[in-house]
Amino acid sequence: MYLCKECLKVFDQYDINPSYINSDDVEVIYEEADCSSISCTGRVVKVDEMILPTIIELNKKGWITKFCCSGHLYNTYIDTYIYFKNTPPTIPDNFDFRDDAIYYKSKKFNSSSRPNNLKRLNQLFDINRELYKWAIGLPIKEN
Ligand SMILES: [Zn+2]
Repeated sequence: MYLCKECLKVFDQYDINPSYINSDDVEVIYEEADCSSISCTGRVVKVDEMILPTIIELNKKGWITKFCCSGHLYNTYIDTYIYFKNTPPTIPDNFDFRDDAIYYKSKKFNSSSRPNNLKRLNQLFDINRELYKWAIGLPIKEN
């Protein structure tokens, strides 16, 4: 899914008109389109759907995020992370904090075998659900 960094509106890929831009700013390279909401001048970025509620919650509260990944079923390792511009006061259980980012501690899926996708999917859901719960419990950032 796609998220406007400014108004936090969620878009389907069919609702955006990609406009890729050249930039030395890595963060800007990931912006894929202008927000189509009336009176919003924000840019739209792609966000993994499972982690999207967490990203919206964090940004709403002023804990501005830069990059993230929910982790993916078909990857060899679990790579769930969020990079921050403003780092929150706590980090979620089972996550490490380094270089302005939180990373899921264990890189290993509980089931190493691809055929057992149900276990892997449950694990990814658990991780992303815990992340969302943590984000809901965070205070709003004071200026
Ligand atoms: Zn917008």
